[in-house]
Amino acid sequence: MDNVLVIGAGGVSHVTVHKMAQNSNFFRSIILASRTIEKCFQIKKSVKDKYNINIEVAKLDADNVDETVTLIKKFKPFLVVNLALPYQDINIMDACLLTDTHYLDTANYEPRDEAKFEYKWQWDYDKKFKEKGIMALLGSGFDPGATNVFTAYTRKHHLDSIEFLDILDCNDGDHGHPFATNFNPEINIREVTSDSKHWENNNWEIGPALKKKVSFKFPEIGNKNMYLMYHEELESLIKHYPEIKRARFWMTFGDNYLKHLEVLQNIGMTSIEPVIYNGSEIIPLQFLKNILPDPGSLGEKTKGKTCIGTIITGKKNNTEKTFYTYNICKHEDCYKEVGSQAISYTTGVPAMIGSLLMLKKIWFKPGVWNMEQFDPDPFMNLMNKHGLPTKTIQLENKVNF
Ligand code: NDP
Repeated sequence: MDNVLVIGAGGVSHVTVHKMAQNSNFFRSIILASRTIEKCFQIKKSVKDKYNINIEVAKLDADNVDETVTLIKKFKPFLVVNLALPYQDINIMDACLLTDTHYLDTANYEPRDEAKFEYKWQWDYDKKFKEKGIMALLGSGFDPGATNVFTAYTRKHHLDSIEFLDILDCNDGDHGHPFATNFNPEINIREVTSDSKHWENNNWEIGPALKKKVSFKFPEIGNKNMYLMYHEELESLIKHYPEIKRARFWMTFGDNYLKHLEVLQNIGMTSIEPVIYNGSEIIPLQFLKNILPDPGSLGEKTKGKTCIGTIITGKKNNTEKTFYTYNICKHEDCYKEVGSQAISYTTGVPAMIGSLLMLKKIWFKPGVWNMEQFDPDPFMNLMNKHGLPTKTIQLENKVNF
């Protein structure tokens, strides 16, 4: 019952496993499995040093369903927490179906050979999960994750309907490198270089990547340029709140990041088309990933804050109102607590909270679910308790950008 199998031993997993160990009265047995076992040992050692908790580790290639099934049968976890890469989602869900095991992840499925992500592939598993009486919780990170919960919370406590939704993701951290990404570089660059896409007047409006820019004054941070992008939670939120007229996602980028990205794109280094190098086929973006700094190593050097939240306008008793719900997280505080930077922290903590709510059967029903489909209150309470305090303020007007 209180046995969890975490797959993947990268930056996010480091945080989630530490947070689970901090709550070992609920997470009594933690198994960490990943492709590179040395990374599991590093997390195991850190958890032992910090909390005197022992976790099990195992080597696993989660692309291989049989291997995952064998590991699940050996440890019999209540829940599999998938913190590997989006490419593994479907194979791990298949292994969960074959072993009647619950499932959670933080990012939706992406095929390797196409930089495209959508929920369809995972939503298609809903019937099979229901038939087996098992649950899958999709996107239990920050965005997606906490931002879906903020939307549900605003709708539940402040508004009768939602008309305009803006998700604002600001990272004002400085890691001292000329160019580095704050989560897996391959996934990050695929996401950032994709066309922008937002929902307006019952349509997806598609535009070139990173072309629409506005300046926004973030609380405790100040003015930052943010860029219109596509992000997966837009897809589930417009499905579950069909009254939404416009839904957009914005992310801040520094000029230095954008300058490097442009050059890398122009010379073909972000391409996912195979090229022949010294007689072998390589994918330029995967090669680039291997030479960029490991996001998990940025913790010690990163200084500054993140501010991620939702600005939502809707009607309450026929009057238009706007609410901004956000969390501010300081990179230095995250490093002090668990040895990570704030991007891994803001993703890893919600993954622990989602797991805890499933373990305690507070969020628990067979099928495949997004975060906004559950009561937001227990999740918000646990965010405040476990290092991600949130604030909601009412704004005088709806956004004018
Ligand atoms: P990392 O690259 O740091 O870690 C990924 C880990 O998964 C690595 O340990 C890697 O192993 C392992 N892995 C990869 N392929 C396999 C496989 N086939 N079998 C077993 N293990 C495998 O990524 P992050 O920690 O930065 O990100 C983890 C996930 O979190 C990603 O899906 C990312 O998209 C998501 N994310 C979600 C966010 C949100 O807010 N919702 C925000 C940020 C990230 P190896 O060490 O061998 O490479």
